Amino acid sequence: MLTVSRMMRCENILCPRCGSILKLHGVHRRHCLDSDSVKHYGWVVQGHCVACSHYPSVLPDFIMPHKHYKTEVIESVVSESESGRIIEHLGGCAADVSTMRRWTRQFKVRGAVAVGWVLAILFELYNRHISALKLKNKKLLELLFSLVQELPCWCNHLWCGQHNSHNP
Ligand SMILES: [Zn+2]
Repeated sequence: MLTVSRMMRCENILCPRCGSILKLHGVHRRHCLDSDSVKHYGWVVQGHCVACSHYPSVLPDFIMPHKHYKTEVIESVVSESESGRIIEHLGGCAADVSTMRRWTRQFKVRGAVAVGWVLAILFELYNRHISALKLKNKKLLELLFSLVQELPCWCNHLWCGQHNSHNP
């Protein structure tokens, strides 16, 4: 069985503040909500950065920082909204309309910033130029997905997503 401490020794997880290698500090219990607002509990790894005294959580890919709902629920609402559906008419999500509106507003701002970052990373680190024609007429979510796939390190099976949801 792969334990959390063994995973932390096998993988170098970097501090989001300073880039130093994190050490295992522990795990904490966290819940997330599905589309019916049902709580699901799991364990989240907490690292410790000796260099900057930071204790970041190593979130699995199905949990977003500062969000209660699962990533797939939020992504579905954002995707439906980008398709032109009216949030008040969306079915399949028990979140408040005001919450879903906040998700779409945040995505418009943060998604646009993320597009800029990914384009800069592709250019600066990999010397890749993305044609403006390739970017034209794409919705923000579709644009982000296609740009991330351009990254050479793109991987559908992230370590955190595979292991962080299991018992420590
Ligand atoms: Zn640090």
